[in-house]
Amino acid sequence: MALLSIVLPAYNEEQNIANTAEVLDKLLQENSIDYEMIFVSDGSKDATFAEIQKAAERNPRIKGAEFSRNFGKEAGIFAGLELASGDAVIVMDCDLQHPPEAIPGMWEKWKNGAEIVEGIKKSRGRESLGYKLSAGLFYKIMSKLIKMDMNASSDFKLLDRKVVQVMLELPERNTFFRALTFWAGFRTETVEYEVQERLYGESKWSFWSLMRYAISNATSFSTLPLQLVTVMGMVSILFSVILAVQTLVKYILGDAVEGFTTVILLILIIGGFIMLSLGVIGHYIARIYEEVKGRPKYIISKITDNVQESVLGSWRK
Ligand code: UDP
Ligand code: MG
Repeated sequence: MALLSIVLPAYNEEQNIANTAEVLDKLLQENSIDYEMIFVSDGSKDATFAEIQKAAERNPRIKGAEFSRNFGKEAGIFAGLELASGDAVIVMDCDLQHPPEAIPGMWEKWKNGAEIVEGIKKSRGRESLGYKLSAGLFYKIMSKLIKMDMNASSDFKLLDRKVVQVMLELPERNTFFRALTFWAGFRTETVEYEVQERLYGESKWSFWSLMRYAISNATSFSTLPLQLVTVMGMVSILFSVILAVQTLVKYILGDAVEGFTTVILLILIIGGFIMLSLGVIGHYIARIYEEVKGRPKYIISKITDNVQESVLGSWRK
């Protein structure tokens, strides 16, 4: 019988673990799907890992790991993929905002040959205005840069073992899971779902963390910002040709002293362009620097008893 692994990254979700584990267990039993659940606590500052451990004692099909610090949701997802042994893996949020009711449908599609089943948001659920605006801006930028409709896509997906393997073999540290499955290709189907409301706790995203996420993903997934630098250069050259002609004509006509305003404007505009370009290039150099260091995406510091010790790394032995 095929095994389904469910990967749930969790950061400060102590109130959600027990409930989520129970809801999923009930649903999967009812649909007689053989499963394992993998909770990855992302360096939580509350009792999330203790809750995971308790859940694992109650239900041996639940596994868990804890990071040595907060490494971010991407790292949590990849650690989960690493720990998963299922023939298919579903990644979902552990706050149940990704409705578990969609799982049987995804599982059916996988059984019928789909290799990736993308969860597509029907609507974005109820969110504060500030969040809507920043998330809206975030997805606008991302969609433009990556040339995919990011607004509807999410981290809620089912991946076949093949695709999981591809994800795990990617050498890059700076991953963007949501877009990487598009990049990977494979036979993809979709299920629509309605974003649910959070029962406990609150969203971990602020305006600034979303912006940071946008910039880091944009630079790790697209070179368009770099090409923008070239565009700025071309605009400057166009300007300079026009101004050069004007200046020369004035010089020849004998009234060359004027034009102080032009000089100030030129310095400001070109200075701005240069600094902006350096900033953009700087972001890419930062990415290169991070990749070249080759540090692991995450460090696992604790595991539940039913997880192999080898994932802890050599420092533990
Ligand atoms: N999450 C995580 N690490 C983080 C932030 C969030 O593992 O640094 C998890 C979080 O526990 C949840 C999921 O990622 O399971 C989505 O986070 P959240 O619900 O805060 O985001 P939203 O649903 O508001 O987009
Ligand atoms: Mg959420």
